[in-house]
Amino acid sequence: MTGTHSTGSTDRSRHAEVAGAGFAGLTVSIALARRGWTVRLHEQNDQVRDFGAGILLWRNAMLALEVIGVAGAIRANGVQPGTYDTSLNGDPVSSELAGYPYWAITRPKLHALLVSAARAAGVEIVTGSRVVGADPAGALLLADGTRLEGDLVIGADGAGSAVRNSLGDLTQERKKYQDGVCRVLIPRPEEFQGPEWDRVIDFWTLEPDAMRILFIPTGPDTIYMGMMATTTNERASRIPIDVEVWSKRFPHLATAVELAGRAEGGRHDNYQTNRVAPWSSGRAVLVGDAAHAMCPALGQGASVGIVNAVELAHTLDQYDDVGAALAVWEERERGMTDAAQARSAYMAETRTLAKGNGFTAEVMETANFELPAVTPEIVAAYPVPEGDRSW
Ligand SMILES: Cc1cc2nc3c(=O)[nH]c(=O)nc-3n(C[C@H](O)[C@H](O)[C@H](O)COP(=O)(O)OP(=O)(O)OC[C@H]3O[C@@H](n4cnc5c(N)ncnc54)[C@H](O)[C@@H]3O)c2cc1C
Repeated sequence: MTGTHSTGSTDRSRHAEVAGAGFAGLTVSIALARRGWTVRLHEQNDQVRDFGAGILLWRNAMLALEVIGVAGAIRANGVQPGTYDTSLNGDPVSSELAGYPYWAITRPKLHALLVSAARAAGVEIVTGSRVVGADPAGALLLADGTRLEGDLVIGADGAGSAVRNSLGDLTQERKKYQDGVCRVLIPRPEEFQGPEWDRVIDFWTLEPDAMRILFIPTGPDTIYMGMMATTTNERASRIPIDVEVWSKRFPHLATAVELAGRAEGGRHDNYQTNRVAPWSSGRAVLVGDAAHAMCPALGQGASVGIVNAVELAHTLDQYDDVGAALAVWEERERGMTDAAQARSAYMAETRTLAKGNGFTAEVMETANFELPAVTPEIVAAYPVPEGDRSW
């Protein structure tokens, strides 16, 4: 085999060992398995699941999920927000993204859909299997001493990636932020029922310090609340949610805040980012947060990971030589990914979103990214409304 384009023959049977059954690991496993690879996916936890809040999947991710056959189920189980509104001190500031093709869904549902698609594609999922590193020669190293060889080994083991940290020839910049977020899923109250509430609302107050509630309906029965404050505001950074502190600042959301205070399974996370170069070493490659964790200001971390995972499988299909494919893949995806990281860091640091999200063409560049793996038919099924093109 050489570094030239693939002859297109289908008789190559290649094997991948993948670390981490999060959104990125599941997506890359499905994408490879659907292209004829045998895939074994290792999850350190005893169960494959994601914790219980919600997520926005932007157009870029939906195009990628169409390629692996999962987008239809997401549309059926999620909510397409009618608009993305911003409110300051209870007063409307802006209403944007009318008709833009993006979806909100609960994380457990998205995870379950990906697990079921992975199993259907023939991916072997091994739970309770902790990975400690990778050998660039093409092997995944497990905590119990097992060495598993593959044509490709993939670190999809999240922001703290053991695979990444074992690959000494990669450069890494990691950063932890002061800002953090509490995330909870609440039962959808009567007052927020009905299609007019199927929209994202970004509620802000700025005095004496910035507090924000991102309100996202994820289905007829659930609302995802992202509740953000600086970590110096200790009471607003607690789980369970401090109902007194939050309802004082957001009196118009008292019912929802009350429910957030009683929600189970919530969590608080500080933002963290990592920038890694290059994304691969020999036959070992990183996808998802392992390669490019980003601030959540654009809500694009998982979406970019999903895009890169699907494109990785597509590029590997085009080359017989794994190393050549990895170089081309990174060349295709790196610019878009770096820009998303830089933009979301800037937005998180400046908190400009309180004045309206300002979804300019530049801000929407990541969401509008069309991965090379996508067909014109799929692109046509996700039209960007004319009004949204004219910012
Ligand atoms: C507040 C907030 C809001 C966000 N909102 C959005 C949004 O709306 N839209 C969006 O697209 N993105 C969003 N993101 C980003 C998104 O959550 C992440 O980018 C995404 O979950 C990363 O997925 P992953 O599969 O790369 O990593 P992870 O979700 O971290 O999954 C890694 C998996 O690997 C397993 N693992 C870890 N170490 C090992 C090991 N050593 N061996 C075996 N298994 C291991 C873990 O148990 C886990 O299952 C948000 C992030 C935050 C913090």
